[in-house]
Amino acid sequence: MKRIAIVGGGISGLSAAYALEQQRRAGTPVEYVLFESGSRLGGVMVTERAEGCLIEAGPDSFLTEKPWAIDLCRQIGLENELIGSNDSERKTYILVNGKLVVMPDGLMFMVPTKILPTVFSPLFSLRTKLRMAREWFHPPHRAEHDETVAVMVERHYGAEMVDRLADPLLSGVYGGTAADLSVRAVLPRFAEMESKYGSLGRAMLAARRKMGANLASRPLFTSLKQGMQQMVDALVARLPRPSLLTHSPVNALTRRADGWAVSAGDRSDHFDAILLAVPAGVAAALLRSSNSELAGELSGINYTSSVTVNLGYDGKVRSFLPPGFGFLVPRSEGKRLLAATFVHNKFPHRAPEDRALIRCFLGGAADEQILELSEEQIIGIVRSELRQIIGLGADPLFIRVYKWKKAMAQYGVGHLERLERIERLRQNLPGLVLAGNAYRGIGVPDCVRSGSDAALQLLSSFGLKAAPNADKVSQPA
Ligand SMILES: Cc1cc2nc3c(=O)[nH]c(=O)nc-3n(C[C@H](O)[C@H](O)[C@H](O)COP(=O)(O)OP(=O)(O)OC[C@H]3O[C@@H](n4cnc5c(N)ncnc54)[C@H](O)[C@@H]3O)c2cc1C
Repeated sequence: MKRIAIVGGGISGLSAAYALEQQRRAGTPVEYVLFESGSRLGGVMVTERAEGCLIEAGPDSFLTEKPWAIDLCRQIGLENELIGSNDSERKTYILVNGKLVVMPDGLMFMVPTKILPTVFSPLFSLRTKLRMAREWFHPPHRAEHDETVAVMVERHYGAEMVDRLADPLLSGVYGGTAADLSVRAVLPRFAEMESKYGSLGRAMLAARRKMGANLASRPLFTSLKQGMQQMVDALVARLPRPSLLTHSPVNALTRRADGWAVSAGDRSDHFDAILLAVPAGVAAALLRSSNSELAGELSGINYTSSVTVNLGYDGKVRSFLPPGFGFLVPRSEGKRLLAATFVHNKFPHRAPEDRALIRCFLGGAADEQILELSEEQIIGIVRSELRQIIGLGADPLFIRVYKWKKAMAQYGVGHLERLERIERLRQNLPGLVLAGNAYRGIGVPDCVRSGSDAALQLLSSFGLKAAPNADKVSQPA
């Protein structure tokens, strides 16, 4: 029997536990214990309710295009609970010179693929529109080294595109800035498209044609009727309770000839292997005594902090708000708000007809200080900026503020090379695997995949083949 310790009970650690549980129930000789420092499981995935509204404190959905979270939901009995974003209502605004300007039709991420809507859009200056036309003839280019997203986007479309689209879109996903994030790690498709086609516009159009009807029929975002927490609850229900230890911060890992000693509080236990599903800085601290070089690489992965503020209003505000999913705020506008989502429009099952729900996003690489402010100060900023941007002065029925300290990993230039070094160093520590949002994707689907891949990687390192019928074991424990 092989014993595995999973450290961290966010979606990465829970996905790892679920993969091991499937194997265990299918007869693989493996057992595991998951250590979570907090009082609850799920990490940043937290759903709450107020006044009939469903509030997401952390992630609100996942990209439909990345299949791993949806596949997991299906396995754990949530197939009928999956919901798509209301894409017929999709309309996103960008704040430009204090006014909301709608993003033109045909933009794929930040790449324009339709000529007319882009030509007539007030989002871009004439100079940027001319750059877009020229971009069509951009020769294939393969950057010798990794570079920032800002450098690449500027090469194609100029600085205005970085400010008005690349930066706000990336700060919504990574809490990072285009000037810091690595193209190869964050937008690997862009780097490939540039080397093959030259023009990102032509490459996107070709990709769009290939996807055809498939693209049109799928919603961009997927979530769950009862919120993201529903996924956590369904996973936990399928795992044996004694294997899940909350209030159990792991404070030391010691490498032994025959495995690892795990210390959590005043308890120490022996395991054959360790699956670390914690932020990279925590993994670094736990591994420092086993391999300081590996710890150094892990602590080089930066994180940013963010704050989400959910405000619920009555039906009058719902009819007052502009149609669409919400707006993004470029930093050049001088605001602290990075984005606001009109949740009642974006997804069904989020707010009753007579309620409006707005979710605001603040913080990120350029505004770590927001975390130091009190809830009252943050609420003051949010309400004042909502008044300035959309003229919303009404009193909310409720407000919920959530602070997430250093929760979003930043993939800086050279991230992929760092991952190669981490992998080489990890191999010197048999029985250790890493999962989580620090490595190959920070979205929920990537974390699901990283957790279950890490679990299967451990089994194969023990010479235990994944049981072929394990996928069918999906009933509650
Ligand atoms: C505000 C916000 C909004 C987001 N929005 C989206 C979105 O809409 N869509 C999307 O796909 N992704 C989104 N993300 C990203 C995504 O939610 C996260 O990357 C993902 O949930 C991280 O999961 P994880 O398990 O790797 O880490 P976490 O959820 O951070 O879990 C790590 C766990 O480890 C525990 N831990 C830490 N130290 C120890 C220790 N020493 N011992 C034991 N346990 C420990 C922590 O308590 C925590 O529970 C968002 C993230 C944030 C913060």
